[in-house]
Amino acid sequence: MPPLIFRKGLDLKQEVAGTLADSYHSELIAAIKDNDYQYHAGRLTVHLATEFGFCYGVDRAVDYAYQARKRFPDRPVVLTGEIIHNPHVNAQLRAQGIRFLSDPGESIDALTPNDVVILPAFGITIELLHQLETQGCTLVDTTCGSVLNVWKNVRRYTADGFTSIIHGKFWHEETRATASQAASGGGHYLVVLDHAEADAACEYIRYGGDAHAFLARFERAVSPGFDPDRDLRRLGCANQTTMLSSESLAIAEMFREAVRTRYGDAELEGRFRSFDTICSATQDRQDAVAALLSQRALDLMIVIGGYNSSNTCNLARICQPRVATFHIAEPAGLMSSFEIRHKPVGEKGERVSTGWLPVSGPVSIGLTSGASTPDNLVESVIRRLGAFANLGESG
Ligand code: SF4
Repeated sequence: MPPLIFRKGLDLKQEVAGTLADSYHSELIAAIKDNDYQYHAGRLTVHLATEFGFCYGVDRAVDYAYQARKRFPDRPVVLTGEIIHNPHVNAQLRAQGIRFLSDPGESIDALTPNDVVILPAFGITIELLHQLETQGCTLVDTTCGSVLNVWKNVRRYTADGFTSIIHGKFWHEETRATASQAASGGGHYLVVLDHAEADAACEYIRYGGDAHAFLARFERAVSPGFDPDRDLRRLGCANQTTMLSSESLAIAEMFREAVRTRYGDAELEGRFRSFDTICSATQDRQDAVAALLSQRALDLMIVIGGYNSSNTCNLARICQPRVATFHIAEPAGLMSSFEIRHKPVGEKGERVSTGWLPVSGPVSIGLTSGASTPDNLVESVIRRLGAFANLGESG
């Protein structure tokens, strides 16, 4: 019997709506939106970006997970990994008894037809999907439509004999899933993280080079059997949906120029394609934070979201050159009016910094959050900001 796959919810949207609202909604945030995205408390003014927080894909994934729990109260419900990159949301799911295959002691091989498996918004690899299907698990597929759009593009590149150049993080679940789509049907891919990696690949396209050194550098970022002399002749660019949009566009342009230099204008059309696959939610959040930085005089910027959330890290990257920026994972990152626990832009770990909040006078703080951060966490951050900014103030 073919496995059961739910792709459009489980007909329980109304039934879980109240629980979702209780868990993630915020009246305060709704009021701030109605007040031109501003919040005032004593000497503090908070300016919210006009787009922030849960995106449509995350909203849907969390909704489906709650529906799955309700639909199958007596069966094990498991996630292939974090449904989204937010520790608070993942903790809420654990509290409902939903298990995570990424946890110690869990094993995909141990799953049976009795298990209900939720596939995350950023998708899973073709190999993992086949395994789950073979094991007969019931699947709840929450893969976001914007991710499916990337897959459609890379599969087309493969069908037309183009190698997919994917701007992304080769270790990120979404990029691994996209790469598996590009490799299906014998296709090839190369994942580039940033300008430096794109530059190295472009040098090879222009002038050739040492294939062994190339493969050593990109060992984990290329398709099996990748041959840079054979597989860099016809290229199609795509990207992880949550990358920095300006960087993705610049990298596609680098590859276009490299192909043009190597093969000339006449062959460009037959050898190069590009498709901007940044999702609209990511783009909107990046545009909104750029607008906030341009329009408001800010003393500092707070960016809220999981440290492993690509889109959140990129929001912080946009802010950091313009204003003192603190990327915090949760409200408790605001430890006191003096100490803040945050992840500096470009670094892997978190640190505690001091003296983050101006001690006197009016203070103006910009605020945004990644696509996997619910509004109630943003509210908690705002309430802490209000409390710390006005410590010792009367009335
Ligand atoms: S960030 Fe974009 S692609 Fe990812 S889940 Fe949200 S809407 Fe979908």
